[in-house]
Amino acid sequence: MQNKNFRKKKSKVSSPRELIKGIFAGNKIALSKAITLCESSRKEDRKDANQILNACLSRSGEGIRIGISGVPGVGKSTFIESFGNYLIDQGKKVAVLAVDPSSEKSKGSILGDKTRMELLSRKEDAYIRPTATGGALGGVALNSKESIILCEAAGFEVILIETVGVGKSETGERQMCDFFLLLMLAGAGDELQGIKRGIMEMADGLVINKADGENVDAAKKAKRNYQNALHLFPPNASQWTPEVASCSALKNKNMEGVWQMVSSHEELLKQNGYWVKQREEQNQKWFAKSIRSLVELRLFADQSNAQLYQEMEKRVIKGELAAYEAAEKLLPHLLDALQARR
Ligand code: GDP
Repeated sequence: MQNKNFRKKKSKVSSPRELIKGIFAGNKIALSKAITLCESSRKEDRKDANQILNACLSRSGEGIRIGISGVPGVGKSTFIESFGNYLIDQGKKVAVLAVDPSSEKSKGSILGDKTRMELLSRKEDAYIRPTATGGALGGVALNSKESIILCEAAGFEVILIETVGVGKSETGERQMCDFFLLLMLAGAGDELQGIKRGIMEMADGLVINKADGENVDAAKKAKRNYQNALHLFPPNASQWTPEVASCSALKNKNMEGVWQMVSSHEELLKQNGYWVKQREEQNQKWFAKSIRSLVELRLFADQSNAQLYQEMEKRVIKGELAAYEAAEKLLPHLLDALQARR
């Protein structure tokens, strides 16, 4: 009986108009359902998703979007828990687009069913949405951008976007956030060896985590080293000089310092016009990425096309086939796939 009622209620709430109303009222269930629709590749869902996104666009844009990255084990989820709680204590509403560890091969098996951000997830002013990292076609980045819009329309003022690892996913994340924060560890050998220079150049702030207990001195030293290293980097287009801070996510130390850093950055960029410029450039890339993603989605909807792509990719990698020719060969398959959908 209860189940039946639930189902009835669910289908009612799921109409796009109801979801829009729910989102504007800050309803987290409506928000989750809308995000699920955006993540769906079904045509009908996409239609609803577009309707909801269009309604939400005009109500988005007011939040601060902070990307948080760092190698596994650096303390990202502990930091988000601590930082998120700090922000809520300051009266903010915080949304977290978090990596779902169970979707990630290497980490899921190590951490098992560890509960992440347990305290934060129970707070009324927090919303946590796990994001699968396994998406092969770059859909995760696209979905996150749409999730940001929906979260902001639901009244969330700070959006924390987590990515794991240091490498391929950061560029996508950088293109969605206003401030890119890189978490680091002190005392892991030569401070500058473990991290790719390109990633550091993208960062607006480096935060050395685990500055507690016996690690405090090492963190201070690392902070100096990174500060010196950052001076050698070319000046940022936004005129912002990346800053270095240390914190202890576990002991909730210096969350205010990190927030101060983010706020100073916001103030400068809003003054010099780069805030809006960066957002507009990001929207432009969002459009380009949407087209690519749509083409891939349509093409790979057919399993045999996905296989063909992989075979060709191998040959291109090995230098047996020119990339342009391979692309031309794939094109008729895309047109067939589009035809089949009509
Ligand atoms: P993630 O893989 O980057 O999300 O890292 P986690 O948040 O799961 O943290 C990895 C480990 O580091 C856990 O055992 C945490 O308890 C520990 N940790 C995280 N932050 C701190 C910190 O500030 N100080 C100390 N001492 N340990 C921390």
